[in-house]
Amino acid sequence: AGAVRSVRPAMAEAAMAARVPPDEDGDECLPQYRHLLSPDLLAGQVAFITGGGSGIGFRIAEIFMRHGCRTVIASRNLQRVSEASKKLVAATGQQCLPLSIDVRQPQTIAAAVDEALKEFQRIDILINGAAGNFLCPASALSFNAFKTVIDIDTMGTFNTSKVLFEKYFRDHGGVIVNITATLSYRGQALQVHAGAAKAAIDAMTRHLAVEWGPNNIRVNSLAPGPITGTEGFRRLGGKFAEKSDLFSVIPLQRAGNKTEIAHSTLYLASPLSSYVTGTTLVVDGGSWLTSPNSYSALLGIASSSAK
Ligand code: NAP
Repeated sequence: AGAVRSVRPAMAEAAMAARVPPDEDGDECLPQYRHLLSPDLLAGQVAFITGGGSGIGFRIAEIFMRHGCRTVIASRNLQRVSEASKKLVAATGQQCLPLSIDVRQPQTIAAAVDEALKEFQRIDILINGAAGNFLCPASALSFNAFKTVIDIDTMGTFNTSKVLFEKYFRDHGGVIVNITATLSYRGQALQVHAGAAKAAIDAMTRHLAVEWGPNNIRVNSLAPGPITGTEGFRRLGGKFAEKSDLFSVIPLQRAGNKTEIAHSTLYLASPLSSYVTGTTLVVDGGSWLTSPNSYSALLGIASSSAK
């Protein structure tokens, strides 16, 4: 039994090395990429990606572009999206238009969508990735902090979806993927603001799937678990989690990476999921089922990651 036990971790490591797609920390493109799906899966299409200048949104843009898609990456900081766009174009050879928007302000979205349509004459895919988050107990959360997260995450997703619907999707169809989270499933400690905001988006996903299905628009959510190399992961106690054995309680024994989220998003955005709408795809290695949710223990993470 001892021999079996000592062989197992090596086997698990080898299997993992073979199956987990590589990723890069920070907002850098992958130095190399092995296609698991046809490189022309999204050929001729255009994706509008909010929050596409960093983290998960950046990798989604890259993976889409590596499958033939042109992209618009949009967030508040024009310098951030412009620099990201240069890297994406250099790595993939596809076009990428960086634009400044604040998803809380519908007129900025409308102007960006007009510009994107002028440049590309079409938009096929909308990824609602823009969001804000931090750890905070409800008792210390200001009224305004709660509202800000709802404004960016929930209102921002509705605003962008509605502008896209009016300007293009109503007449041409389209695909919407909302990036949400699993926080509300078990009432994650220190996350009432983001959990409530993302739960509302998952509800919106179902409502819009029902109302817009006849217009040939599919609407789905993708809920990531803990994802390395992201601002979200760093802010939400990533350093602490890396040092502790928090990952051993996750069924797949590890955090996920941005490439894995991008691959699952690619599935939802592509014709591979042509009959899928109104659902939430959880991409978390089983994490929400087993990860700790103790208010007092997580308060310790919040204060240690703030140091
Ligand atoms: P991130 O890099 O901080 O991405 C958030 C993006 O949203 C930034 O590019 C930011 O750009 C943009 N943004 C923020 N406020 C905006 C506004 N008002 N208008 C337009 N854009 C705005 O974080 P991430 O960790 O990769 O997260 C990406 C998505 O995955 C989020 O929806 C997040 O909730 C979700 N998620 C992440 C994890 C994780 O482990 N990282 C887990 C679960 C869910 P600007 O500052 O330039 O505006």
